[in-house]
Amino acid sequence: MNHKYLIDAHVHLNNYHESERMPIADHARELFAKMDEIGVDHAVVITSYKADLDRPSVEELLNLLTEHPRITLVEGLRWRGEARTDLFHLEERIRDGLVKGIKLYPGYDNYAINDASLESVFRIAAKYGVPVMIHTGDTYSKTAKVRMAHPLLVDDVAVDYPDVKFVMCHLGNPWFQDAAEVLYKNDNVFADISGLTLGEFTYEFERYVAMRLKEMITYMGNPGKQLMYGTDWPLVRMKPYLKLLGELNFDEEQLQNVAWRTASKLFRIDEQLLIDSRARKPAAPAS
Ligand SMILES: [Zn+2]
Repeated sequence: MNHKYLIDAHVHLNNYHESERMPIADHARELFAKMDEIGVDHAVVITSYKADLDRPSVEELLNLLTEHPRITLVEGLRWRGEARTDLFHLEERIRDGLVKGIKLYPGYDNYAINDASLESVFRIAAKYGVPVMIHTGDTYSKTAKVRMAHPLLVDDVAVDYPDVKFVMCHLGNPWFQDAAEVLYKNDNVFADISGLTLGEFTYEFERYVAMRLKEMITYMGNPGKQLMYGTDWPLVRMKPYLKLLGELNFDEEQLQNVAWRTASKLFRIDEQLLIDSRARKPAAPAS
């Protein structure tokens, strides 16, 4: 059984090795090379909660990748630090179809998922029908506050903003059971399976993650409607992640939903783009 197409719903073009800084165009070239190697037809590229030498701003990525047929761009909200997101400009980018979603980084940026100040952000998402992706669970940073990113808080916003579609990133790791409950309960909540390891899985940890995911899937009942494939590349390698997808025992329909169909609906990625990508029609991005 094989997936028809593959969408990676969670990748970054940030530089995570400050000692070996590369231009973003090189990161983008690496991404396309990896996508070709692994058979990823389309990737959702997400910008960060800050913009600096290692984290390109949404404007920089738009210059580099403007309307590339194999890339969907999601804008990270810069909410509490310096150089905050100007919501007027964010709305324009969404209105013009340049940005197809918003990503929140609660805990990293100093607010909780259910912070009242986010109302204006959720209203923009509702108005244009774009999903709000939310980092949930473990924060790689010691200075982030993990409680603010607990997956149970997604229930608060899912109930208060029924017109908004939310995506829990990383399945609330390690609060998988809480994430499963929020997904099961709310039809407007989705999740990606990204970022459940760093780099390669060890044998034991891969078995642990696969087991927890299978438990979630059993609890949720119909996982295909809400779960999406995603990696968190380059923090995670693509190949072991694809292997993980194969180990989750999805039936045919669930597999197609998780591999591409749910993401294609949520981010409005036209199937024709995936067909073209399979035919390897689009050229590499301009550098
Ligand atoms: Zn990520």
